[in-house]
Amino acid sequence: MLISLVVPAYNEGRQLIANLKQILAAAEPCGHDLELVVVDDGSRDDSAAQVAQLAIGDSRVRLVAFTRNFGKEAAVYAGLEHAQGEAVIVLDADLQHPPRLISQMVQEWEEGAQVVEAVKQKRNDASKLDAWLAKGFYSFYRKLSGFDIEGHSDFKLLDRQVVDLYLQLPERYRFFRGLVNWLGVDGAVIHFEVEPRAGEASRWNKVSLLRYALNNVTAFSALPLTIVTWLGCLTLAVGFALLVISLWQKITGSAEEGFTTVNVLLVLVGGSIMTSLGIIGHYVSKIYHEIKGRPIYIKKVPRRKRS
Ligand code: UDP
Ligand code: MG
Repeated sequence: MLISLVVPAYNEGRQLIANLKQILAAAEPCGHDLELVVVDDGSRDDSAAQVAQLAIGDSRVRLVAFTRNFGKEAAVYAGLEHAQGEAVIVLDADLQHPPRLISQMVQEWEEGAQVVEAVKQKRNDASKLDAWLAKGFYSFYRKLSGFDIEGHSDFKLLDRQVVDLYLQLPERYRFFRGLVNWLGVDGAVIHFEVEPRAGEASRWNKVSLLRYALNNVTAFSALPLTIVTWLGCLTLAVGFALLVISLWQKITGSAEEGFTTVNVLLVLVGGSIMTSLGIIGHYVSKIYHEIKGRPIYIKKVPRRKRS
C-alpha cells in the first residue's frame, strides 16, 4: 500500500533537503510504498528549486509550490489534497517531529487505528513565557470549545477515509489539529519529546501566534459573542437597582436637581443597547455556525486490520 508523507516547508534553508532525505530513510523500514509531498509555502529562499531538483532524482518526491506564503494550515491542506496514499502522515520539515516514529504510526494504522496522534510530552525549545502562553491557549480553547487538545501537534497519521472527510469539510479557515479532533474518529496516541529545531529559527512570532490562537478559538466557539448578552443583562439589572434608588431619592426629596433624569436615561439606554447587541450577537453566532457548513454527524466505521 502507498503511504504519503506530507511536509509543509517555509524558508527551511540549507537543511531542507538533508531533512527530507532523513524523513524518507526513516519511513522506508515500514515496508510500504512511499510518496513524499513537499508543499513549499512560498519560501523566499530556493527551497522550491531544491525540492524540484530532488524530485528529478527520486520519483517518490513531489513538489507543490505556492505563489506566496499562505500559512502552514493552507500548506497542510494542499498536501492532503495532493497526497494519494492509503494513509497520510503530516510532519514538519525541521525534524521537530521525529521521523523515527513513522514506523510506529504505520504499525498502529495497520492494527486498525484511523488516526494516529503524536502528542508532545514536553516542549523542549520553548521559553518559560512560550510554554505558559501555549498552556493558556489550550486551557482557554478547552473551556470554550469543549475539546482538550493540549500537547497535540500537527504530527499525525490519517487514514484515507479520514483525509477524505477532512477535505470534504466545506469551511475555509482550518485548524488542522482542532478539526481532526472534532471529527472524533477512532485513534491511537503515541507520545514524543519535541526535538530541538534542525535548521533556521521558528517562523512564528508572537503576533502571528496570537492571531493564530484567536482565529482558532473563534473557529470553534461563538461564546465570546454571547458574552455581550450577559453583560447587557447585568447592566440592565444594575440599572434597575439604580433606577429604584434614584426614584426613591426623588420621592424623599434627597436627590440633586436633574440627577434622576440623567441616571434613569443612562441606565435604560445603556442596558438596552447592550442587550440588543447581545441579541444580534446570537444571530451572528447562528450565521457563523451555519456558514461553516460542518456535517451534522460523522458515522463511526468499525476498526479493521490492514494488511
Ligand atoms: N511552515 C509553513 N508555513 C509557514 C510557517 C511554517 O509551511 O508560514 C512550516 C515550516 O516549514 C515547518 C512547519 O510549518 O515545516 C512548522 O513551522 P515551525 O517549525 O516554524 O513552527 P514551530 O515548530 O515553532 O511550531
Ligand atoms: Mg518547528
